[in-house]
Amino acid sequence: MKKKYGRYFVRLVSLLCLLAATGIFMIYANSLHGKVAASNIAPEQTAEEASPAPSEPEETTVATTSDTTPSETTEDPDATPTPEPEYVEPEMKEAWYNGFSDPRTVRAEVVHPTGDVTVLVNKYYTLTEDYEPDDLVNPKHAGEQKLRKEAADSYEKMYDACKAEVGNGIYLISGYRSFSLQKTLFTRSMNKRSLAFACKRNAYQGRSEHQLGLAMDISPEGSTMISDDFGKTKVGQWVDAHCHEYGFIRRFQTQWINETGYDNEAWHYRYVGVELATYLTEHDMSLEAYYDKCQVMP
Ligand SMILES: [Zn+2]
Repeated sequence: MKKKYGRYFVRLVSLLCLLAATGIFMIYANSLHGKVAASNIAPEQTAEEASPAPSEPEETTVATTSDTTPSETTEDPDATPTPEPEYVEPEMKEAWYNGFSDPRTVRAEVVHPTGDVTVLVNKYYTLTEDYEPDDLVNPKHAGEQKLRKEAADSYEKMYDACKAEVGNGIYLISGYRSFSLQKTLFTRSMNKRSLAFACKRNAYQGRSEHQLGLAMDISPEGSTMISDDFGKTKVGQWVDAHCHEYGFIRRFQTQWINETGYDNEAWHYRYVGVELATYLTEHDMSLEAYYDKCQVMP
């Protein structure tokens, strides 16, 4: 009998042990499942919490700055903002022709004019396609051509003085030019003359001071031809000597070819206001040198 009870006892203990072991295993399995479940949830939660916060504002910031920069800058004429520079990237590898760079190969910084008449625009500083001054007027002695109001008023005063002193006035052949007109002119020059000619004489679209409404190509009154000989005429010589008194500079001169990136032009004048025009004339200085932004030769 004792042996019988002994066997029952052993079986009972074994059964209890088995039950205990099963219980421990189930608790362990449950806790494991909990951990797996938790690790499945955790990334979703962190992804929801973490990723939208930094990425969404970044996207909207980029979108709003690029969308609003032009209107913001035009709304505040007194501000001299230095926002993140925008660039027009080169369309092809750097190329020079007879010492004149191909503007299509240049990385140009985008300029958003605020109304300041001294703004620098050249091969390296470009206007946007949609930029057009909001104060263009048609001065006298200019056909259909337009200039910004301040430049137009000064042009008329210079005409009157030239007429009085020389006996003949000046004529505005070309003033404000749109981006698309400049594109036509550069492309035509490149195709009909040569790329080398276009690089030394014609501004690429966006890179022309004519789009500012502050540049003018002039001739003696009675002529409607742009000519190198303008500098040899009495009118041309008078304008060259007196233009600064009216806020104009002869923009492209032989001694500055490496600074401006353009060949000598007897007929192209730029309005910068009397103060700066006088300073530049007295110091025999190009606008690029004034801003310490002379062209960098290869
Ligand atoms: Zn011109």
